[in-house]
Amino acid sequence: MRVIVDTDLEGISGIVCWEQCRDFASAMYQSARGLLMGDVNALVEGLLAAGADDIVVMDGHGGGFNFIPELMHPGARYFTGRGRSPWLAWAELYERADVGILLGYHAMAGTPDAILRHTQSSRGGNRYWYNGRESGELAQDAIIMGSFGIPVIMMSGDSAACREAHAFLGSDITAVEVKKSYGEEFGLLTAPAKAHELIKEGAVHALQNAARCVPYALELPIRGRLRFPDKSTADAYHPSRSTRIDDYTFEATFENARDIYFF
Ligand SMILES: [Zn+2]
Repeated sequence: MRVIVDTDLEGISGIVCWEQCRDFASAMYQSARGLLMGDVNALVEGLLAAGADDIVVMDGHGGGFNFIPELMHPGARYFTGRGRSPWLAWAELYERADVGILLGYHAMAGTPDAILRHTQSSRGGNRYWYNGRESGELAQDAIIMGSFGIPVIMMSGDSAACREAHAFLGSDITAVEVKKSYGEEFGLLTAPAKAHELIKEGAVHALQNAARCVPYALELPIRGRLRFPDKSTADAYHPSRSTRIDDYTFEATFENARDIYFF
């Protein structure tokens, strides 16, 4: 079984404050990188134990370089670095995968009780809809994987992210809750060492259950809508393929699900 893993930072065990995710020069961010590697390595161990024979882990947070090479488990390969080309240039990494996992994800912008909730822009408050349904990064990345025929079999994050995953991707996805959210930067955390056990067990269960999961697919063409929280941000946005419908909102039609990130 060939597995592709998308990662984010906000839903990793032990992460609860924006400073851990945003302030790249801070000691808190450097510590957060270690927490990220802990969850990643637990996942890789679980996947290997369950018989995965090819694992590629994508470093997704902030478009930057979050992984710590010295801590990389040797059983996987890691897509990371800075100044990336547009993502279709590395679509081959998805083309060869059988199943997908979203590790360390967070709930969408506007979710009332979610830790570090946002959609794409953590400061901007952007909100996205596809075919009329508001969607966050969990759904967006599931759409991309779905366009390659890849089912999402597992995710991890806070209680709100797990709830969102089941709402969009159904009851068969293995959702590993590593913290219960009570506010934007406040929650009941599972100790990372315990979260690693849960992630490892989740990976084993997810691979055994993989055949029950189906790719997330939307009806084509996809009607996309992007709403900014203020007019000045919208004024500064110069979309190549969308139409502005009011002071805050742009709409576009995507013939291919892989195009949603061109919004
Ligand atoms: Zn992130």
